[in-house]
Amino acid sequence: MHFHIITLFPEMFDSYLSESILARAIKEKKIKVSFYNPRKFVTGKYKKVWPDGNVSLQADDRPYGGGPGMVMRAEPVIKAVERAIKTITNYELRIKNKAKAKIIFFSPSGKKFDTKYAKDSVKKYTDIIMISGRYEGVDSRVKEVSKKLVGAKNFEEISVGDYVLTGGELPAMILVDSISRQVKGVLNKFESLEEERISSSEVYTRPEILEYKGKKYRVPKVLLSGHQKNIENWKKGI
Ligand code: SAM
Repeated sequence: MHFHIITLFPEMFDSYLSESILARAIKEKKIKVSFYNPRKFVTGKYKKVWPDGNVSLQADDRPYGGGPGMVMRAEPVIKAVERAIKTITNYELRIKNKAKAKIIFFSPSGKKFDTKYAKDSVKKYTDIIMISGRYEGVDSRVKEVSKKLVGAKNFEEISVGDYVLTGGELPAMILVDSISRQVKGVLNKFESLEEERISSSEVYTRPEILEYKGKKYRVPKVLLSGHQKNIENWKKGI
């Protein structure tokens, strides 16, 4: 699975992708993550060269109709998406294989992301392009153009929950993490078992009795019993 992330802040991903399961998946080439910064595609009056040689690349502008905050401009975002599609097409030509790409546009009012969505994505697609918004969001015309680029059925507006985040970078990390876990070989045998078995948020480890400010906190007896059926039932809340 190749993830293509459109973001103004690619550095935010460095730490998350360089640890644990995802770092191993990247190293073993089970997944790949590429970044496309819309700022790199800024041209014309939005690209200013200052007398001291500094260059400012403006990827946002004021919203039509007024209102606070800025909106990410359509042009550089579309160019970033086009670049991602070019990367996919070049790869497809190279391996003479059928790449299947979808575009995900992050929005708090989109379709809710869940494990089923992650599983289906791995079955249907080889490449996922994610558009991470910032500020007041991304110019809505990006959605129309994206549908033209990959076909309406391969475009979706996705939310990671009923709350508003500052940007689409955390949602992109959530999807990369959750979808990667469904890619064959990303989880080792033990981790896969973790995924499939009945899991509970009530977990305990050593010591058996924890003493805190004169009070004793004990591990539930059933977990010490060695009786697997009773333990599974306890985890299921039966
Ligand atoms: N005014 C926008 C709206 O109500 O749709 C919110 C903009 S939000 C501050 C900036 C960006 O963060 C959005 O464009 C989107 O990419 C991302 N975002 C915020 N909350 C999100 C959520 N719950 N799920 C997915 N993306 C989210």
